[in-house]
Order: sequence, then C-alpha cells, then structure tokens
Amino acid sequence: MKFGTKAVHAGIEPDPSTGAIMTPIYQTSTYVQKAPGEHLGYEYARTQNPTRTALEKSLAALENGQYGICFGSGMAATDAIVKMLKPGDELISTSDLYGGTYRAFTKIFEPYGLKFHFANLQNPESVKELINENTKMIWLETPTNPMMNVVDIQAITQIAKEHNILVCVDNTFATPYLQQPLDLGADLVVHSATKYIGGHSDVVMGAVICNRQEIAEKLYFLQNATGAVSGPMDCFLALRGIKTLHLRMTQHCKNGKAVAEALKAHPKVDKVHYPGLKEHSGHEIAKKQMKDFGGMLSFSLKNDTIEAAIKLMQNTKIFALAESLGGVESLVGHPATMTHASIPLEQRLQTGVTDSLIRLSVGIEDTEDLINDLIQAIDKVEEKSPAMAG
Ligand SMILES: *Cc1c(COP(=O)(O)O)cnc(C)c1O
Repeated sequence: MKFGTKAVHAGIEPDPSTGAIMTPIYQTSTYVQKAPGEHLGYEYARTQNPTRTALEKSLAALENGQYGICFGSGMAATDAIVKMLKPGDELISTSDLYGGTYRAFTKIFEPYGLKFHFANLQNPESVKELINENTKMIWLETPTNPMMNVVDIQAITQIAKEHNILVCVDNTFATPYLQQPLDLGADLVVHSATKYIGGHSDVVMGAVICNRQEIAEKLYFLQNATGAVSGPMDCFLALRGIKTLHLRMTQHCKNGKAVAEALKAHPKVDKVHYPGLKEHSGHEIAKKQMKDFGGMLSFSLKNDTIEAAIKLMQNTKIFALAESLGGVESLVGHPATMTHASIPLEQRLQTGVTDSLIRLSVGIEDTEDLINDLIQAIDKVEEKSPAMAG
C-alpha cells in the first residue's frame, strides 16, 4: 500500500458493534468482564483503549514499523525511551537538540546517573570519538530546530550497528511522509504528534514507532507502568489529522520552497536556512533521505537586531506569533527571545541563532498570500539599526 492509502485506512476497521466507519472515541476507563480474566482484550484504559490501538496501528504503518506506542506528549514519549536505559549508560545526541529534550536529558536523567554527550552529528565521524562500552543510544533530530541542519541517518546507523548501539530519530520536523528513519536503519522513531501528525494545533500527543519486539515490549511496559498515555479524544483527533497528512505535507513543502525563494530574493534578508535550497549545507543529504523539504525554515535579517525581528513579527497579518509548528496555519517565532532564550548568548550565536533569526512554520494557505504577507512585513523593517548606521 502507498502512503496516502495508508494515511486514510491503516489501523482503521469499522466499529465491530455498530459498523461506524470512523473509530469511536472510547471514553471509558474500564471494561466489563464476563468472569475474572475473561474479557475482550481490554481490561483497564491505561493498559489498552481501542481508539488508541487504532492510532498506534496507523502510526506504525506510516513509519513502516511493526509497533506504535502512543503517549500523552512528545516529551512523555521521549521520557519512556530514555527510561529503557540504566544508570551508567551513555547517550550521544546532537548539539542543536529540541530544547525540551535537552532539558529532560540534562535536568532529569543526568541526576539519575545517565551520561549525555552532545556532538555535531552533521559530521557522523564525530560520533566515533564519543563511543565507549557504556554507549547505549544515539539520539538525533533532522532537520534540526531552528537552523534546519541535516544529519545523514544512514551514516549514523551504520556506525551504531558496528557497536550495537540503538539509534533513535526524532522525526517530528520531517514526518513519515518525507522521511522514514526505520528504513534507513534506525531502531526507534519518536514523534511530537502535536505538530504535523495531528496537524491542526488542537492536540498534544507523542508516539514511538519501532520494529523489534523486545524494544516494543519494554515500551508497552513503560507506557502501562508509568502511565503517560494519550486520552481517547486526543487519539481520535490525531487519527483524523493523519487522514490528510500526505495532502497537507505536499502543500507545506510547496509553500516552504516558495517562501524560501521569495525571502532569498529580498534585499533586507541576510541568510535563509531551508534544506530545499541548493546552497544549504545539508541539501544533498536531504535530497537523498527525504522525499521533499518540508515547511519549516528560518532566516536572518541584514539589520541583525532583536528590534528588527520584533518589528517584522508584529507586522505579519497571516503568520501568527506563537510557539509550536506543523499546523495548517502559518506561524512565526523568534528563537532568541522564545525557544532559545535560556541559552547563553555566546553559545546561541555560535549555533547560528543570531538576534534577528526568525523561524517560520509555513502553513497550507495560498502561497501568494503568505509571500505577500512576509514581504510587506519585511519592507517595514529599517535597513539598519541607528547604532549600526552610526
Ligand atoms: C515539540 C517537539 C517535541 C516535544 O513534543 P511535545 O508534544 O511538545 O511534548 C520534541 N521534539 C521536537 C522536534 C519538537 O518540535
């Protein structure tokens, strides 16, 4: 089955009691048993829920995996994966990791005796120096937030396999429509389904997809034992979102590319970071491992000041100023004062997050309206700050 057909049908069966074509929202905490232990496969809703089961099967199919396990948020999914490790184990990750993941690694799991290394995984060789007998997992994101750096998934999984190390890919930015890490040798895929998978900015949800039974069993155990499950209403919304994932992604990609080109041509724009641009450092690898280049991008202004960025963001009429990404509506954000505000200035500048850097989650509106909205807002920005002019 091809992707679009799977998005509409995978995991979904007409409801056995009524024939309802849409999976019902099984808003129940428990299920009646005929005799103790004699039941229809459902005992208690932390352990199993039919709406969640349908979503888990759907997500597994989309990622070409055997098992899908859903959680109450992307961070809950991440938390469960890291809990498969033990004190003394080491994990290697990208230095430009999602802030919430970095926070969980360093503030929650480090005190429990896990060790984390952060490296520039755009150079896969840099992993080798950090591997020792305690290394149990490599965790990567690609493309990364907000610089859109691309990591060669296959190059990393090849190194990992030689050392019996699990590779987990956070596939939130790319989605299974654009990139299928399990096919490239990864052992685990994690999603913030809050973003493109749900796709309508109306649900917080996470998921893990994998192929190996022993990994799946550990994760089902953790899901049930620690209980960060997603509720049936949220599962219903995610299932509904998935049905149009392929159509939405096609438009996100089309708009992302058009917006990147328009920004590049604007005289007040300095750099545009979009893996679909030929000059982007990760363009060739992105072309190799992704179907298209997505709807996320960032750019900086020649007037590289926080004031200029704020002026721009206050003047967009369609792009809304907000955290998050991946919904049908276009969003604009300012990493220096929002997602990356807690990172020391020098370190922030080193990773490329300059004062004027602006991140866009390009939605599925009409392309021309989005471009016009950004151009009129950039036109309102001063060429240079008074200080720089002097
Ligand atoms: C949002 C996000 C997360 C965290 O997911 P939540 O659903 O907000 O808990 C993890 N990774 C990436 C790349 C994200 O964008």
